[in-house]
Amino acid sequence: MNTHDLIVIGGGSGGLACAQRAAEYGARVMLAEVARLGGTCVNVGCVPKKVMWNAAQIAHGLVDAPEYGFSVSTGGHDWGQLKQQRDAYVLRLNGIYAQNLAKRKVEWRADHAEFVSATQVRIGSEVFSAPKIVIATGGRPLIPTIPGVESGITSDGFFALAARPATIAIVGGGYIAVEIAGVFAALGTKVTLLTRGDRLLRGFDTMLGDALLQQMRADGIEVLTMAQPVALQAAGHSLRLADGRLAGPFAQVMWAIGREPLTATLGLARAGVDLRADGAVVVDRMQATNVAGIFAIGDVTGRALLTPVAIAAGRRLSDREFGGMEGRHLDYDNIPTVVFSHPPIGTVGLTEEAARAVHGDAVKVYHTSFVPMYCAMTTRKVRTQMKLVVTGLQEKIVGLHVIGAGADEMLQGFAVAVKMGATKRDFDDTVAIHPTSAEELVTMR
Ligand code: FAD
Ligand code: NDP
Repeated sequence: MNTHDLIVIGGGSGGLACAQRAAEYGARVMLAEVARLGGTCVNVGCVPKKVMWNAAQIAHGLVDAPEYGFSVSTGGHDWGQLKQQRDAYVLRLNGIYAQNLAKRKVEWRADHAEFVSATQVRIGSEVFSAPKIVIATGGRPLIPTIPGVESGITSDGFFALAARPATIAIVGGGYIAVEIAGVFAALGTKVTLLTRGDRLLRGFDTMLGDALLQQMRADGIEVLTMAQPVALQAAGHSLRLADGRLAGPFAQVMWAIGREPLTATLGLARAGVDLRADGAVVVDRMQATNVAGIFAIGDVTGRALLTPVAIAAGRRLSDREFGGMEGRHLDYDNIPTVVFSHPPIGTVGLTEEAARAVHGDAVKVYHTSFVPMYCAMTTRKVRTQMKLVVTGLQEKIVGLHVIGAGADEMLQGFAVAVKMGATKRDFDDTVAIHPTSAEELVTMR
C-alpha cells in the first residue's frame, strides 16, 4: 500500500520544483531534505554568490566613480557585515521555501533519505512508499587526492569565511574558480589562480576564456597556467606543482575543480539503479533511470549543472507524470548560461570549434571587439567581445557568445531567439537599441 504518489529525495532547486508542480496537480508528495531547504543554489551557490558578485561590481563602480565626477571616500569594505546580511537573506529564503511547501501541501521531513527497495524510501526512522520516486540529491565539491588537501577550502568554505583573506590561491579554471577569483580581487585580496591547462573555461568558446584571462591579468590576478598542484604544504599554505614549481605562501587555498554527484549513501543498489563511473545517475531523455518508476533530475545526473536546468527538468517531469502532458521533457540543446566573472560572460549554443566539427565549411563567424561607451570616461578599459556562429546559406545562428559588461542580462532574450532558430537576417532586421552594447549583436557585419 503506497503512502504517497511521489517521493522526492532532495529539497534543492530540482526537487522543490518537481515536488511542488506534482502537488499542484493533486499528487500526494513526500520530500526529504537532510540539510537546508533550497539546496546548493540557495545556500552555497547562485544566491550568496550573486550577492558577492554584486559587491564586487560596486567595488569596480567605486573605482570608476571619480572619473564620472564623484568625490568618493569609503571606509573600506566590511566583509563580516556583508556576510551577516547575506546569511540573513538566505535564512529568509529557507523560510519562504518551507512556506511554499506548506502552501502546496507537500509533506516533508528534515532528514536523510535512502532506498529500502525500488518503491520504498526510509527517511530518518520512517519508511514511505510510492510508485514514483525522484532522486534530486545534487552534488558536492570535489577535492583533489593530494597530500595536505584538507587545509584548503572549497566553495562551501568560501561562503563560511568570516573575514577576507589577504591572499588566496584558487585551484581550477572553471565557473567557480573564475567567479570567486573576480570577487576576491575586486574586494582587495591578492589572488593567484592555478589552472592545469593553458586556458580558462575549457569547453566554452575560446574567445571567452582568452579574453577573460587577459582581463583578469589586467585586474591584477596572477594566473598560472599548466599548474597542477601535487601537494599543499600546511606550513605557510604553499602549493607544490607537478613541474616542481612552488606557489605561495597564501593565507588561504581554495579548490574549485568540479563537483561530484551525491549518490553514495542513497542505498541505490537496493533499488537496482544504474550509476555512471563518476557516481552520476544514468537517465534517458525522460529523466527515467533503468528502474521503472525511479527518475533523477538536476546535478545528480551529471549534465548541465545549472539551477534552471534542474528546475526545468523537475517541472517537466511532473507535468508529464502527474499533469497529463504526454512526452513532456527537457531539451538539453541550446541551454543558455552566464559566468559571473568580471566582466561577465553569456553564452548559448555551439562554440565555434564545435560548430566546425559538426557543420564544417558551412560555418561562418561574425566577431566584434570594442570598448563599451561606459569606459569612454574611465581609465580602466574593459573590452567587450561578441561572436555569432552561423551555418548554411540561411545563416542560422547556432552559437552566440558575449564577454563584457551587461552580458549577464543581455543573454536571456537572445537565447529565446536562438532557441527559436533565428537567422543572421532576423538579427539584421531587428532595429537596434542605442546606445547599448547589446545593439552590436544586431548590427554585426
Ligand atoms: P541541489 O541544489 O544540490 O539540491 C540537492 C539537495 O539534496 C541538497 O539540499 C542536499 O542536502 C539534499 N540531499 C542530498 N542527499 C540527500 C539524502 N540522501 N536525503 C535527503 N536529502 C539529500 N547555477 C546557476 O544556474 N547559476 C549560478 O549562478 C550558479 N552558481 C553556483 C555557484 C556555486 C558556488 C555552486 C557550487 C553552484 C552554482 N550553480 C549555479 C549550480 C547550482 O547551484 C546547481 O546546479 C543546482 O543547485 C542543482 O540543483 P539540484 O536540485 O540538482 O541539487
Ligand atoms: P567546472 O567543471 O566548471 O571547472 C572545473 C575546473 O577544475 C576546470 O578548470 C578543470 O580543468 C579543473 N580541474 C578538474 N580536475 C582537476 C584536478 N584534479 N586538478 C586541477 N584542476 C582540475 O567546475 P566548478 O567546480 O567550477 O563548478 C561546478 C559546476 O557548478 C559547473 O560546471 C557549473 O555547471 C556549476 N556552476 C555554475 C555557475 C553559473 O551558472 N554561473 C557558477 C558556479 C558553478 P579542465 O578544464 O582542464 O578539465
